[in-house]
Amino acid sequence: VAALTEKTELDKVKEAIADPNKHVVVAMAPAVRASLGELFNMGYGEDVTGKAYTALRELGFDKVFDINFGADMTIMEEATELIHRIQEAGPFPMFTSCCPGWIRQVENYYPQYLKNLSTAKSPQQIFGVATKTYYPAIANIDPKDVYTVTIMPCTAKKYEANLSYNETNGLREIDAVLTTRELAKMIKDAKIAFAKLEDSEADPAMGMYSGAGVIFGATGGVMEAALRTAKDFVENKDLKDIDYTEVRGFKGVKEATVKIGDNEYNVAVINGAKNLSEFIESGKINEKQYHFIEVMACPGGCINGGGQPHVSSEIRTKNDYKKLRASVLYNQDSSRSVAKRKSHQNPAIIKMYNDYVGKPGEGNAHELFHHIYEK
Ligand code: SF4
Repeated sequence: VAALTEKTELDKVKEAIADPNKHVVVAMAPAVRASLGELFNMGYGEDVTGKAYTALRELGFDKVFDINFGADMTIMEEATELIHRIQEAGPFPMFTSCCPGWIRQVENYYPQYLKNLSTAKSPQQIFGVATKTYYPAIANIDPKDVYTVTIMPCTAKKYEANLSYNETNGLREIDAVLTTRELAKMIKDAKIAFAKLEDSEADPAMGMYSGAGVIFGATGGVMEAALRTAKDFVENKDLKDIDYTEVRGFKGVKEATVKIGDNEYNVAVINGAKNLSEFIESGKINEKQYHFIEVMACPGGCINGGGQPHVSSEIRTKNDYKKLRASVLYNQDSSRSVAKRKSHQNPAIIKMYNDYVGKPGEGNAHELFHHIYEK
C-alpha cells in the first residue's frame, strides 16, 4: 500500500554500528538480491548479491552473513517435522510458517488451523537464534554483545522481530529490521556508488547457502526446498531429480502429488493471502487430503513484498517484474551442482548441526528452533 510507509529503524542500526561495544551482524533475505539493483538504475532481474555484501561491509557491519543460511536451517527443521507428521499421521495439512503476514491471517481468521502450522521458526527468526547462540560460541563473543540486523523485502518482518516470544535466553533474536528500500537509502546516504562496487562473498560460517535456501524468495520455493530434503531423508538417497516445476510460477493455487518413500502426498502452494481465503472459504481445502501447504501472503512471494522497491503502474503493465525478480533466484539455484541445491548438503549447516545443535527436530534443535502457535 503505497500510502503507508515502514517505521524506519535506520537510526537504531547506525547507532549500533557506531557503538564499539556492539558486534553488529547483518544478513539479507533471498528476495533482496533480486530487487536492490532497481533502486540504483540497474534495471529488473539483476543479481546484485556480491555488490550487496560489499556495500554492507563498507557501511561498517562487523559480519556479513545471509538469511539464505537461515532458510536452510528452517528446511532442516520443517522437512524433519513433515516426516514426523507422516509417521504420526498428522495433523494434516501441515502449513508453512515462514511468512508473518500469513501467520497473522491464521491468528485472526482461521485459528482452527493454528495446530497445523509448522513449528519451525521462520528463516529470519531461526537465523536470529543462531546469531545469539551458535555464532557467539564459535566466535568467542558474549551473546549480549551481538546485535543482529536483517535486510528484508517485508514490512511484516519488523512486526515478527518484535513479538515477545521471539527471544532466546532473554535476548531479542533480531534487534533491527531494514527493508530493501531502507538499505538503499543507507547506501545512498553513505554516497557509495553501488552499481560500480566489486562483488564479494558473505562470511562463510553463516553466509554459505544452498540453491534451496535462495528460492525461498519466490512463491513455491519453500515447498520445493522442503521436498528436496524430505525425500532425501526418507529415501536415504541423494536424489538427482529435484526440480518441482509444478509448484513454480504465479498461478494463485498450484498443486502436485509427490511420492515420498512408498506413499503419495498431496501438496499445494497458495500464492497470496486472497487466494488463501478463497481456498479455505470455498471448501476446496476439504476436497482431498492435503498433506503440506505453502502459503505466502504477498502475490508472487517475498520478491513482491511490502518492503521492496515500489513499481510504477507503467512498469506493472509493461514489464513482468515479478518474473524477472524470481529469475535471479532460480538462476542461482540452477547454476549449482546438485550437492549445492539441497539445504541438508550445505557444508556450513552440516557443521553447525554436527558441532553445536545435534539432530534436527530433537533436543537442542527442537528447543531453540521451534515455536508452538497458540490461540
Ligand atoms: Fe513478508 Fe510478503 Fe514474504 Fe510474507 S510473502 S514474508 S508478508 S514479504
